Amino acid sequence: MSTSTLKYSAETSNALLKEVMDRSGQNLMSCYQCRRCAAGCPVGDESGVTPDRLVRMVLLGEKDNALNNLLIWKCLACYTCGTRCPNNIQTARINETLKQMAKEAHIEPNIPRVASFHSSFVKSISHFGRSNELEFMALYEIENYKKGGLTAVKEDIKSTSKLGRSMLKKKRMHFKLDRTKGKSEIKSLFKKAADKRGAKGQP
Ligand code: SF4
Ligand code: SF4
Repeated sequence: MSTSTLKYSAETSNALLKEVMDRSGQNLMSCYQCRRCAAGCPVGDESGVTPDRLVRMVLLGEKDNALNNLLIWKCLACYTCGTRCPNNIQTARINETLKQMAKEAHIEPNIPRVASFHSSFVKSISHFGRSNELEFMALYEIENYKKGGLTAVKEDIKSTSKLGRSMLKKKRMHFKLDRTKGKSEIKSLFKKAADKRGAKGQP
């Protein structure tokens, strides 16, 4: 876990806090640092940043750290932190907001592959209303190719093929083109979100 001292920045704290509260819908001001969220986060230790720490970064205006940490990319959106929080702060939504802000600011993600995975997954959902494995894998490997060429694609396929085979065996992965009934509703949600953040077209 990160033990470096956080510093208050009057210049950035108000603007950062307001933007994160507005976009995530979470009242970060009510956090009293009890760390109940940290105790249950499955990726806090390996990310070096726990949910309470992330909230603190935003409150203090540590924008660079808030947009550049492993937690925002490794968060599983399991909502354990929010379930445990006595003030009902959903850090998963804060993570998602900060991840989006980092993408909009063109900040190189700490784990490029996770960033590619995230973009491809969301893009696939925006097309079919749910993730389609075939399209998602194609989009993901195209991203890999753009970043690391054919070598990156080959290495990725090699390292994930075992997992893929095991998922196929357990019927956890299939290649049918499933569409949801409420596809138009999902599309309109994506459009609303894009309009709201003023970044049309970015999933
Ligand atoms: S559980 Fe809630 S109040 Fe406690 S540190 Fe985490 S976010 Fe803050
Ligand atoms: S939602 Fe994210 S931040 Fe919260 S406990 Fe789960 S992995 Fe940790």
